[in-house]
Amino acid sequence: MGKINFKNYGSQKNWISGCYEDSNSLEKISVISPYFDKEIATVPDSNVVDLNLAVERSKLVFPHWSKVNIRDRAEVMFQLKSILEKNMEELAYLIALDNGKTIEDAKGSILRGKEVVEFATSLPSILSGDSSQVANGITCTLSYEPIGVVAGITPFNFPAMVPLWMIPLAITTGNCFILKPSEQTPLSALKIAEYLKEAGLPDDVFQVINGSREAVEGICDHPDIKAIAFVGSSKVAKIVYSRSTALGKRALCLGGAKNHMIVVPDADLDSTAKGLLASSMGSAGQRCMAASVAVGIANIDPIIQQLVKEANQFKLGVDMGTIVSKLAFDRINNYIDEAEKMGADILIDGRNVMPPKDYENGYWLGVTILDNVDPSWPCAQEEIFGPVLTIIRTATLEQAMQIENDNIYGNAAAVFTTSGEIAKTISENASAGMIGVNIGVPVPREPYSFGGWNESKYGHGDITGKSGIQFWTNLKKVTARWPETEEPWKKYF
Ligand code: NAD
Repeated sequence: MGKINFKNYGSQKNWISGCYEDSNSLEKISVISPYFDKEIATVPDSNVVDLNLAVERSKLVFPHWSKVNIRDRAEVMFQLKSILEKNMEELAYLIALDNGKTIEDAKGSILRGKEVVEFATSLPSILSGDSSQVANGITCTLSYEPIGVVAGITPFNFPAMVPLWMIPLAITTGNCFILKPSEQTPLSALKIAEYLKEAGLPDDVFQVINGSREAVEGICDHPDIKAIAFVGSSKVAKIVYSRSTALGKRALCLGGAKNHMIVVPDADLDSTAKGLLASSMGSAGQRCMAASVAVGIANIDPIIQQLVKEANQFKLGVDMGTIVSKLAFDRINNYIDEAEKMGADILIDGRNVMPPKDYENGYWLGVTILDNVDPSWPCAQEEIFGPVLTIIRTATLEQAMQIENDNIYGNAAAVFTTSGEIAKTISENASAGMIGVNIGVPVPREPYSFGGWNESKYGHGDITGKSGIQFWTNLKKVTARWPETEEPWKKYF
């Protein structure tokens, strides 16, 4: 296990104009490390005065940054990529300390964020635009223009990766970006601000406003913030989406999930058991791509037995970190208690596990597998966001498909089978934006975009890939006609 030593980072500030700046607010939020159940920092609970300052400064620099050649803007991303690689240990430690991930898991999340940084380095080619002669003597040119001052609001579970889904595309396309990171896990976002400065990003192109509800509502309401990307729970995603679009802003709000893995008896035993486990337990189940429901068709007992065998080898602190907070820990325990009362078979119980040495006060929950769950129970319908795999048994493929389709969310779905026909049927009929065939965590690699359907997303398009570029830009079309003389070049000679 990568060692996570306790450290207190003291009173953190906002990041304005390329340096740390005190907030106007006297309210502070305590940041607790889930490894130690102890405060590791405080961040200001910023107010609209803080936000107004950040927007004011960003507005002043936008006319200049938006006119910087895109190759020079992309150069910042080339630099950021090497800075992330060079500082991988430092950033991974901060993510682990405030979020509870293992160091390995934290590094994996940085690599996924870095993919978007790499994609952003290719924007000079991708955004070369289009131009053609649309009629005799008339040309049409299309270009991608930045929008202005834009903002991102991010969740606790991927404190560096989710900001890195947004920042590279938003600023390389020429916008100025204000980030409101999760107040539970703010440390790595502030570090990214330092990295961006080191990468050569001019001051005021990127600002960080710490805080909670007031800062978020301020972002939704501020007339000079033109577009908002949000990632978090569906409840808040819906609020942010309606509040900001009501004011005419562009918004893309990614929400929660309840992803299903449909398991067919013909699936490969070993890789399916591993796939189910990795998907449901990775990041201690605290990820929107966690497939937390396995829908087994007919007799999948050998696969479940193998799954239990694999799960029993899982080591806390090595294969899985902690739960983010005491509140989340209690919520997950309640789901398990309730499922037990309703009659679920608990194949593995992660409650009351032995914490790893040196982290006795951490919020530890072990692998939990609930079998023979009814599709109507809360543990089968709601987002638990913890290391709990719910197994539902069905007789037919149609029933399994129906269970997947009936769920209100639609982030991801997966099928484990050796039958091409079944894989095709499920891929075509699952009501989700990201589908895995024999892959439990079907996160598309760049340039394929990330985003779900249904109650897992409010707004159009996806957050990364070409879709992300479209979100952060306006299309401009110039149609030009120049007066034609018979031989226009002759007048010059
Ligand atoms: P959250 O909704 O509680 O918080 C997200 C952001 O919203 C934070 O910055 C927080 O400060 C702010 N916020 C919280 N309550 C608010 C309120 N009442 N008014 C205004 N702002 C508020 O989410 P979380 O617990 O940090 O993250 C976990 C959730 O995020 C899960 O539901 C998970 O599925 C989802 N998530 C989704 C994706 C995706 O791609 N769809 C990715 C990661 C996480």
